[in-house]
Parts: sequence; C-alpha cells; structure tokens
Amino acid sequence: MTDFALLIGGERRSTPTTLDVVNPATGGLAGQAPNCTRADLDDAMAAAQRAFPSWAADEDARRQALREAAAALTAAATRIGTILTSENGKPLARAVEEVHGVAHWIGYFAGLDLPRETIYSDATKVIEVVRRPMGVVAAIAPWNYPLILASWKLAPALRAGNTVVLKPSPFTPLSTLAMGEVLAGALPPGVLNVVSGGDELGAWMSTHPVPRKISFTGSVATGRKVALSAAADLKRVTLELGGNDPAILLDDIDVDKVADGVFASAFQNSGQVCVSIKRVYVPARLHADVVEALADRAKRAVVGDPMLEQTQLGPVSNAPQYRRVLDLIEDSLGRGAVAVAGGGALDGPGYFVAPTVLRDVTDGMPVVDEEQFGPVLPVVPYTDLDEVMARVNGSMYGLGGSVWSADPERAATTAERMECGSAWINSHGGLLPFAPFGGVKWSGVGVENGPWGLASYTDIQTLHRAL
Ligand code: NAD
Repeated sequence: MTDFALLIGGERRSTPTTLDVVNPATGGLAGQAPNCTRADLDDAMAAAQRAFPSWAADEDARRQALREAAAALTAAATRIGTILTSENGKPLARAVEEVHGVAHWIGYFAGLDLPRETIYSDATKVIEVVRRPMGVVAAIAPWNYPLILASWKLAPALRAGNTVVLKPSPFTPLSTLAMGEVLAGALPPGVLNVVSGGDELGAWMSTHPVPRKISFTGSVATGRKVALSAAADLKRVTLELGGNDPAILLDDIDVDKVADGVFASAFQNSGQVCVSIKRVYVPARLHADVVEALADRAKRAVVGDPMLEQTQLGPVSNAPQYRRVLDLIEDSLGRGAVAVAGGGALDGPGYFVAPTVLRDVTDGMPVVDEEQFGPVLPVVPYTDLDEVMARVNGSMYGLGGSVWSADPERAATTAERMECGSAWINSHGGLLPFAPFGGVKWSGVGVENGPWGLASYTDIQTLHRAL
C-alpha cells in the first residue's frame, strides 16, 4: 500500500495518527491518510508565507513552473487516477480523465494574462489598475471531484502569485496528497502545501491568522461556517456550494434524444456532481414517455466495479452519502412516489445504489426540494411553464439549470429566466476553464475559472502616477 504523507515546505511529513480511507466499491481499506495536527498546520501556513515573496516576484518563472507541474501530472495520470478510483469509486477512465483535466486547467491558467489596465491618462497623470496577489490562500475541497475542484483553486491562485495550503476531504485525501507531491516537484518549496485530516482541520484553516483568502467548495451548511469564520478576520472568500439543478423540458422535444442527454447529466459520477440535473420538469402530456425513456436507460446502465472498463456507474462515494440517498428514496416511496427503475441498494459489498427514476413526485417532497447528490432522479409533471418557473426560482439553490427544446431560441429565452449561475440549452453541466462558474443565492459567493476566477485571487491596487 502506498505511503501517504503531508506536504509541507516541499517535504513529506508523517503524523502520529492516521485516518482510514474506505474504498466505497468494497467497503475495505483504500489506504491511510496522515492526520494533520495544529502544529503541522502552523508549519504549512508558515512555509507558504515564507515562499510567497519570491513566488510573487517573478511572473515568467511562475508560468514556466506551472507548465512543468502540469506536464509532470500528465505523466502520472494513470497512477493518480487509480488512487482516486480506489477512494472515490468513480470509474477508472473517468478518474484518469479528471487528472488530465487538472493538467489542462493548470496549463490554461499558466497561459492566461493578468493585464495592468490604464484607466486614465493626461499630461499630468496616469492612473493604472494593478492586480496584486493576496498572500497565502487556504483551499478546501470536497470528495466528489477532489482533484479537478482543487485545481480550480490552486491553478489561478498560484498563477496570480499566491501560495497555497490545500486540504482535501477526509473521504478522498489520498489522490490529492499524491497529486500534490507530483505538482510540488516542479514548484519551489512551500508554494503548494497539502494537509489532510478531519473536518476540524478545515475549521482550523478558516480561522487561521495567516491566509488572506479561503477558497471553499462543499455543502451550503459548511460554506456558512467558513463565511462566518472568515468574516472575523475579513478574509476574502470564494464559496462554491450545493445545487439542486432543475431541467425544464419544453413541449416540442424529441423524447428519446432528450432522455439520452438528461440521463447522462443526472447520473454522471453516480449523480454526485454539483451541477448535475437533480429534478426534471416535464409537460404532463409527455411525462409518461419521458419517465419510461429515462427508466429504460437507468435499467441498462452498467453499475459495478469501477476498476472494470465496462462499468459506467460506480458506487456512492462514502457511507454517510449512501445512507442519505437511500433515506431520500425510502422517504419518497413512503410519500407515494413510484420507482420506475431502481428504488434501493444493490446487493453485495460497497455502497452501490441502483440507478433510480421516480414518478408520482411533487415539489415539497425532500427528494425534489433538496440536493440528493446520488443516482436518483425525480421526474415532475407540469402544465404551465410560468408556474414551473416560479417553483424553480422559489428554491434557495441557484447553481445551474437547463432547458430542453427543439427550438434553441425559445429554450434560451426560457433559460435566461432561471435564477442560477450557469444555464444550458439542450445539455447540462459542461464546464470549461475559460467560462466563469459559480452559484447565486445559497449556491455560492464569487466565481471560479476564466479571467474572473483569476482576478478573484488578487487585490486591486489603483496606482496614481503624477507625471
Ligand atoms: P462538506 O461541506 O461536508 O465538506 C467540504 C470540505 O469542507 C471537506 O474538505 C471538509 O472536510 C471541509 N469541512 C468540513 N467542516 C468544515 C468546517 N467547519 N470548516 C471548514 N471546512 C470544513 O461537503 P462534501 O460533502 O465534501 O461535498 C458535497 C457538497 O459539495 C455538495 O453539497 C455539493 O453540491 C457541493 N459541491 C459544490 C460544487 C460547486 O462547485 N458549487 C462542486 C462540488 C461539490
């Protein structure tokens, strides 16, 4: 079994205690992660602080180091992808893709400019807007896409000249520790530090005096706590939080075609995607056909050992999430919902849930109103588009949404009415390094990616130059 260590100031460090990491496909042990102490965290923050001035000083060196880090990661993609599958349960091909995605994101930010802007000039003065790095950034990531979501933080943070202390979820720390070691091989010591531990480590980070910014991806409940602790020290925050994305199907759709797209988005990564479709609204006239088409796809999906090539869907990633998904299904069945496909756990070890499609569901049921974050999809009929839009916008979640129609213009007009950070027409969930991504209302504060994401790792300095 690989020996995993904290990464502090460019050095591996073991800890007196470790955390067991479970393989969700077997229920067995995937590995053991170091359990960072407060003193270790202080050292990581101090290392990041020491590394900051010289890292911030040389932009060309930063771009070059980031490109080298991305290349090193690409070379290690299969090894790190295998670790990711063993702790997270996603199919191996998807895990390796995720590692390549990180390299792509880092390469994108390495090449992105952070221009100085001249906003005024006359014979007596020039006024410029300069972007300065903030210092140390604390980055806290969740378990569903541990690597790519960490890269959305560390790539722009490092590109802008900050140094980083990164903490993965206690459910998936191993692949991040392995990734950190590979990346750090191309970076000066202390520029990127990786610490693993329990949830309390996240709380220590967000109350720690050193970081000037907390970049957090996770649940709404934890996001609130992070915002509260950050406020005490006026640390900047980016919060990427939960979602309950609706897909609204219009009355002119080709049912089979749309069912393919909706199924793919809703069940990708076994439904554990911040922007997957979490509820579908279908015109009453088409409801039975859509339910049947989705159920057919759910029944045909190959669920099983994520290390096997033919597997399309792996297990739910951890025990608490497995319990939550099963509870939500059970609750909805108790309220009169019908599982047209799936409806519960699959036999055998591991946290496997049968891909579940529910009909006879309504707004007001927890499986519709809350974020299920698992392989279960409620399909809700509607008769009036304005009314459904009011219901959708009545939610405090506002991460993503989609509209599906044979008429893309009509769909776009409808999508623009949705209160959400990203809206898609005839697809759902595609994310790109150059496109800003973030949530409105409870789904987040700020955006990641693109020049907007990069700018969020800087402070503005307005430079007034008298001539
Ligand atoms: P979580 O909030 O339980 O944990 C996220 C991270 O926060 C973990 O690293 C955890 O250890 C840490 N943490 C826990 N308590 C903390 C505290 N008090 N202070 C600081 N850090 C703390 O979320 P999760 O279960 O790991 O992830 C699933 C959630 O993340 C879902 O709600 C999902 O929608 C959301 N998510 C959002 C996005 C997005 O970009 N908007 C992307 C992926 C996942």
